[in-house]
Amino acid sequence: MSIDSAETYFDNYFDTYQVPASVRSFLARSHQLFIDGAWVDSSDGATVPVTEPSTTQTISNIASATVADLDKAVAAARREFDGGSWSRFTPLEREGLLHKLADLIEANTEELALLESIDVGKPLAEAEMDIQGTIDTYRYFAGWASKISGRSGEAAGLPGDYVTYTRKEPVGVVGVIVPWNFPLQTLAWKLGAALAAGCTTVVKPPEITSLTTLRFAELVSESGIPGGVVNILTGKGSTVGAALAGHKGIDKVTFTGSTPTGKSVGHAALENLTRMTLELGGKSPVLVFADSDLDKAVEEVAMGIFFNAGQICDAGSRLYVEDAIYDEFMGKLVENAKSWVIGPGLDPESAIGPVVSENQCNSVMGYIQTGIDEGATLLCGGNRLDRTGYFIEPTIFGDCNNQMTIVQEEIFGPVLVAQRFSTEEQAIELANDNQYGLAATIYSQNLNRVHRLSKVLKAGSVYVNAQSSIDPAMPFGGFKNSGFGRDLGPEQLDSVTETKTVWITLS
Ligand code: NAD
Repeated sequence: MSIDSAETYFDNYFDTYQVPASVRSFLARSHQLFIDGAWVDSSDGATVPVTEPSTTQTISNIASATVADLDKAVAAARREFDGGSWSRFTPLEREGLLHKLADLIEANTEELALLESIDVGKPLAEAEMDIQGTIDTYRYFAGWASKISGRSGEAAGLPGDYVTYTRKEPVGVVGVIVPWNFPLQTLAWKLGAALAAGCTTVVKPPEITSLTTLRFAELVSESGIPGGVVNILTGKGSTVGAALAGHKGIDKVTFTGSTPTGKSVGHAALENLTRMTLELGGKSPVLVFADSDLDKAVEEVAMGIFFNAGQICDAGSRLYVEDAIYDEFMGKLVENAKSWVIGPGLDPESAIGPVVSENQCNSVMGYIQTGIDEGATLLCGGNRLDRTGYFIEPTIFGDCNNQMTIVQEEIFGPVLVAQRFSTEEQAIELANDNQYGLAATIYSQNLNRVHRLSKVLKAGSVYVNAQSSIDPAMPFGGFKNSGFGRDLGPEQLDSVTETKTVWITLS
């Protein structure tokens, strides 16, 4: 399908893909802020346009929150936390509400997936996977609500007779800041644990992909979660995001986004000693050894960098292939890359959609030019498609080296940089030679090697003969400049609770 003219967007594009009336009418609404359970305009009436990346057309407008709006949202969240109705819900009641929320998301999967696909540009099938991941995350943390508990203990050296125990108490009002690549699912990674623990929240969704979060807010209302527990402030990162990170009424900030923004969020939070989790960027190495299942590795390496048009924090974006198989492997990989069908997310034929925005498109194309200028060999792709929309070909550079900008910096697009290695030691050295440490992948059938490498690779997740395996039960987060703290798994619960130690003297 080709889009002839941007003006025909609503007539042709939505008709072609049979977008239902419910989605069209949602987009046509004027989207407000969700504060204390009510929908309100931003205090200065400002809005931000929403651009659809396949057509570059404005498809909606969302409210742009001010600091005054933020103050109201924080006050509502504080009231609910400090003695409000939410603070009196039992853990089992919170568990029930999180399941209810998951049920509502499930019942609205089609609409949410369509909105996510339209807003981010991702293929609909990928958006459906995001919604399933969202549902699973709320269900997983629902189960934790009634299982978070402290422990009883014995003093080790202190003389005297005591009863000692710890309590796990919710940390308080949690500020949540989310990026644009997996908006609804990343939000679930933050809210699931926070709500299970009994916290209240103020959310700053990504300014360019807020639509599913706004629809989600309606489901929060419908679920029976009281007003003020989940507040949604759409708008600009530089204003409301920055103010949220530095707000004195926030007890914990949990941020996912780029490393530069994460550092600025961290500085602002530290000013008030606000607790923080920072899930940041990545430039994850993939090591392919000669003893791996090559065809499987080719499929998965391609998926690892081209899924979601490469806009994945733990995308396998740096490829290191053992000398003996480099030429054969790269030949097969290039063939694979050329086979990806590029098109709008709503087109069932599309395997790769546009990148999310003009800024992102320009940034990725800039890196491609840098790669050419630095002398890397362009093996395939490298072009923006000559059509409306932010479409970039799956791109692979060969003969790279670790001194190149394209090998050191996160590109966050469908661009893979590849080079050879000759020994295991060299592969480890090359893989660890980067500021980031979010994930690393090993392809090898040698069990001993897999264990050796899993131990020394500096990354929060190590995938073996697989790419980007994510599950709500397993923690996710970074080493080095990929941030600190973990989302998901029982490990996340420590970051939304304070541990209190109680001493009772018996004599
Ligand atoms: P970004 O850092 O530009 O923005 C992230 C969020 O922060 C957005 O909601 C934005 O509005 C807000 N923001 C912007 N400026 C702010 C400020 N000064 N103070 C507070 N908030 C501010 O990131 P992005 O471009 O939306 O997302 C892409 C980045 O996110 C990539 O670097 C990617 O690797 C990273 N990411 C990391 C993970 C992870 O789990 N580690 C997951 C997804 C994405």
